[in-house]
Amino acid sequence: MSDTERSIFSRIIAREIPATIVAETDTLIAFEDIAPQAPVHLLVVPKTEDYRNVTELASGNPALMAEMVALAQQLATERAGGDFRLVFNTGPSAGQTVFHVHAHVLAGTLGEGTLA
Ligand code: AMP
Repeated sequence: MSDTERSIFSRIIAREIPATIVAETDTLIAFEDIAPQAPVHLLVVPKTEDYRNVTELASGNPALMAEMVALAQQLATERAGGDFRLVFNTGPSAGQTVFHVHAHVLAGTLGEGTLA
């Protein structure tokens, strides 16, 4: 796969571009979003680039999706008392800009009824 085909998240996983990495497992990486929308705003990203969005992930590897949720819970517990919002933007008109599945973990004091 050429550099132009690889996602920006694959380049973070490979340490080719910097990020503030907060957790890593054999299958996942988590790092701070560069443009935070909440007091805690992390991205949980599978190391595989096989799934472009959460729909593909849920049908293709539900166990990996469950790992993402568990890591999100762990990070929210460590940083914000355990409550969190999990967002998967899916498709360009829903705000997805990186087509390598990722979960936004939003935590801290969040407004009621808002999406970010
Ligand atoms: P989405 O719009 O749902 O595809 O989410 C992509 C997210 O990646 C956005 O919230 C960006 O702020 C974030 N992002 C893009 N580049 C970087 C980067 N180099 N380091 C950390 N977060 C990034």
